[in-house]
Amino acid sequence: QTSTKPPPTPSPLRSAKFFQANMRILVTGGAGFIGSHLVDKLMENEKNEVIVADNYFTGSKVNLKKWIGHPRFELIRHDVTEPLLIEVDQIYHLACPASPIFYKYNPVKTIKTNVIGTLNMLGLAKRVGARILLTSTSEVYGDPLIHPQDESYWGNVNPIGVRSCYDEGKRVAETLMFDYHRQHGIEIRIARIFNTYGPRMNIDDGRVVSNFIAQAIRGESLTVQAPGTQTRSFCYVSDMVDGLIRLMEGDNTGPINIGNPGEFTMLELAETVKELINPGVEIIMVENTPDDPRQRKPDIKKAKELLGWEPKIKLKDGLPLMEDDFRTRLEVPRKN
Ligand code: NAD
Ligand code: UDP
Ligand code: UDP
Repeated sequence: QTSTKPPPTPSPLRSAKFFQANMRILVTGGAGFIGSHLVDKLMENEKNEVIVADNYFTGSKVNLKKWIGHPRFELIRHDVTEPLLIEVDQIYHLACPASPIFYKYNPVKTIKTNVIGTLNMLGLAKRVGARILLTSTSEVYGDPLIHPQDESYWGNVNPIGVRSCYDEGKRVAETLMFDYHRQHGIEIRIARIFNTYGPRMNIDDGRVVSNFIAQAIRGESLTVQAPGTQTRSFCYVSDMVDGLIRLMEGDNTGPINIGNPGEFTMLELAETVKELINPGVEIIMVENTPDDPRQRKPDIKKAKELLGWEPKIKLKDGLPLMEDDFRTRLEVPRKN
């Protein structure tokens, strides 16, 4: 005799499990430069639902325009210094202006974002049992006395300088992360990000790569801040996003340096941009800002060993990709 039973309907428990297999991910600061590239990558996985919380201080909806209206995507205008009550499985906590011009514009707000913002996201992680990743910075090493910088170095930071709202703010954010981890068992991940560049950087935010590229395209002089021998190491944004996701998905709390160890003086960077984009422009020396670190280069041994990560894109290959984006936004097409 054949059964006439209707097909089984999934039990509420089973469907709950099914939905649990999908990951709901909050990205704070997701309308910004790195955040929007991270969102692009997370959205590629159909199991991910992505929620962005951003106050649009330095970010923009334009960076997320291809996702607005997508059923797995949600955008909330929200300031992380206020509590946020939502249900998520993972939190990528990026919200914080990254460019000195913007973080010095309202330093008290910057430190609130770093401290109260991180506290709120940790409170959220604690309430819902989410794993949380903080994007800290190489600035926690200050003006470093060892070179290159590895994660065990405690840094050389001015606590009362004009950059302190940012670098001391991030240091307190790291402390909060570890205190919530030890005291409340929160699953934490800390990335120490070194200078990152790529499409969607704010054109006039004063950071060196965006300045030089915009200046070269506009035919203006490239402004090297004295002495020009200070160094930085620049990581292309797709490499950065790959590192952040590996860190989130792996088993290590960090802190782990994520950056490209290729080190350049600012004069070398200016020469490279000039050669690639506009050999006709001049390079001029201008005054620097206080507390500018003299050298910076990540030791990425930990990222290699623990995350199997290293950057793939060389500066010479990344700059033209950024040039394309800047030319489109500045409406200056290539000559040939
Ligand atoms: P960004 O300025 O482009 O993005 C930051 C985003 O955070 C913006 O969308 C901004 O509107 C948002 N935001 C700022 N304050 C907020 C608040 N109080 N509430 C909600 N949203 C807020 O910067 P980015 O380069 O994408 O940097 C992202 C993260 O990476 C930051 O935490 C930054 O400190 C860190 N980081 C970046 C670099 C780099 O070279 N870009 C280097 C080290 C660390
Ligand atoms: N918080 C939040 N979302 C939540 C839970 C907490 O924004 O879902 C905030 C909360 O307002 C508080 C902070 O996170 O300011 C720290 O929360 P926690 O529960 O750790 O501390 P408490 O509320 O006991 O001070
Ligand atoms: N810089 C420069 N010209 C500019 C902007 C910045 O020479 O137009 C220098 C700046 O003095 C610093 C380096 O570039 O030594 C990196 O500065 P940025 O603000 O990009 O990043 P951060 O100081 O946070 O590493």
